[in-house]
Amino acid sequence: MESSSSLRIAIQKNGRLTEKSIDLLENIGLRFDEYKNRLMVRCRNFDVELLLIRDDDIPEYVQDGVCDLGLVGANVTAEKQADVTVLRDLDFGYCRLSLAAPKNGDIKEVTDFESTRVATSYPVLTQKYFQEQGITARTVEISGAVEITPTLDVADAICDIVSSGSTLRANGLKEIQPIFQSQTQMIKTNKELPQEKLELIEKFLIRIEGSQTAEKSRYIMMNAPENSVEEIIRIIPSLKSPTVLPLAEKDMVAIHSVIPIKKFWDVMEQLKETGATGIVILPIENMIF
Ligand code: ATP
Ligand code: MG
Repeated sequence: MESSSSLRIAIQKNGRLTEKSIDLLENIGLRFDEYKNRLMVRCRNFDVELLLIRDDDIPEYVQDGVCDLGLVGANVTAEKQADVTVLRDLDFGYCRLSLAAPKNGDIKEVTDFESTRVATSYPVLTQKYFQEQGITARTVEISGAVEITPTLDVADAICDIVSSGSTLRANGLKEIQPIFQSQTQMIKTNKELPQEKLELIEKFLIRIEGSQTAEKSRYIMMNAPENSVEEIIRIIPSLKSPTVLPLAEKDMVAIHSVIPIKKFWDVMEQLKETGATGIVILPIENMIF
C-alpha cells in the first residue's frame, strides 16, 4: 500500500467493534461519508482516512506503519504480540479470554488441564498462561466455532472469548478460569510520525478524554434551602465548585453541578435528606477541560 500523508486509522470492517468505533470517531468530531462495504473512507473535515479491515490484521498494520492508529481489542493486540503503543482504553468491547470445559466432565479446575488438548483462536495467550501455571497442554488452533470442538472430540476443553457466558452454556461448557481481561483500545504505531500527525493524535486524545468523562457524568440541578448549601457541597463530589443561584422564593437557592454517574444514587438519597427538591439529572454531551 502506498504511503500516505493523511493520518490513517484502522478499524474493524464488519463486526462487534465497527459501529462503536465509528460512533467514537464521530463523537470526537470526525465526519465520514457512507463507510459500509468500503475498504477506505476519507474523513470530510480532517486529514484522516479510515482503513476498514479484519480486526486480526489491525495490530500488524499499525506495527508496520501502514496505519498510524488502530482501534482493536487488547486480546488481539496481545495475541499478535504487536510492537505498538497503547494510547487509551476505549471503554467498549469488554470481554475476557477464558478456559472452559464440558460441564460434567473431568476438567474442574486449572490443574486438570495438564496433558489435555485445548482448542483456541488464541494459542499465544493460552500457552503463556499454561506456562505461567506450570501446566503442559496442547493447543489446537481453530479460527472459529471453538465452542463445539469438545463435542466433536477435536479437543478436551477450550480457551475462548467470553462476555456473558451464554454461548458457553448453550454448548454445554462451563467457564473455569479467565486468563485475560480485554476491552477495545486505541493503539499507535511505534514508527516515527511527522509533527502534524502527532499533533492531530494529541488533539483526538484530548477529545476522547472529554467525551469519555462526559459519558460518565451527569449534570445535576436542584432547589434547596440556603442553609443546607454547605452540606450539599460536601455531598456532591463535583468536578469544580457547584453553581449556587438565588431563587425568587426567600431562603431558597438553585444548585447546579456535575456528578460522576456511579455516585448518582448515593448522592440522590443524601441530597433528599438535606431538604433538596426538584432534583433534575441531565446527560452531558461533552466536556472541555
Ligand atoms: P473479523 O472478521 O474482523 O476478524 P471477528 O469475528 O474476529 O471479526 P468479532 O466477533 O466481531 O471479531 O469480535 C471483535 C472483538 O470484539 C473481539 O476481538 C473482542 O475484542 C471483542 N468482543 C467483545 N465481546 C465479545 C464476545 N462476546 N465475543 C467475541 N468478541 C468479543
Ligand atoms: Mg477477527
